[in-house]
Amino acid sequence: MATYREQGIVLRTYKLGETDRILHLLTQGRGKVRAVAKGVRRPGSRFGGRLEPYSHVDLQLYEGRNLDVVNQADLIAPHAHIREDFSLSACAAPMVELVDLVAQEGERDNRLFLLLRAGLQALDAQPPYPAIFTDALLLRVAAAVGFPVTVGGCAACRRPGPHAFLSVSRGGLLCVDCAPPGTRAVDDATVELVRLLASDEWSALPAAAEDRDRGGVAASFVRAFVEHHLDRRLRSYEQVPRETGPGPG
Ligand SMILES: [Zn+2]
Repeated sequence: MATYREQGIVLRTYKLGETDRILHLLTQGRGKVRAVAKGVRRPGSRFGGRLEPYSHVDLQLYEGRNLDVVNQADLIAPHAHIREDFSLSACAAPMVELVDLVAQEGERDNRLFLLLRAGLQALDAQPPYPAIFTDALLLRVAAAVGFPVTVGGCAACRRPGPHAFLSVSRGGLLCVDCAPPGTRAVDDATVELVRLLASDEWSALPAAAEDRDRGGVAASFVRAFVEHHLDRRLRSYEQVPRETGPGPG
């Protein structure tokens, strides 16, 4: 049987039989991999607690006909804080739900892997406002799979901004001439927040998260944008806490 090594992040797990578990993994070199970890639910399993959701692991696997089989697993980063904290795990759930939906089996996508790893690392650091990392990750993953939000100019006529209308179906900002009646008008700070969420910047997110009012508008845009363009509902997004942290409200 052919074996291979891969780094992977555990997206989700299912029970199989009495003691086994099926894992969905996002690997660095092979995209999504579905694998079985045998005996993992038995006390004293050689995998210990290493194959839990959100864990970043170094794996050795056998290629199987339907499912590959985990032969060895070593932790790179357990991301244990996420599993121990309800609000952090609620913020991580839509991240892995979306990645599980969009990741292709057998197709290397290093950008997707690095995005998810960065998002989970950010949550594992126990930030005061974790939900903003969920919103950023969702927009960035949408862009990585071909649906970038347009925030540089008008999404329809490309005229440079600033523009004040934000459209889910048209893919981002619209100028006053292109915006159909009923398009949501937003202020400059909201546009700036959406631009930041869609960027490659992680370190500026915590400060931006303190603006609750704009955060709510941006969050509803992010969810609608991702669900519309990927044509999927993100069930776990409803559980993302919006009142976590030391700020007002
Ligand atoms: Zn326009």
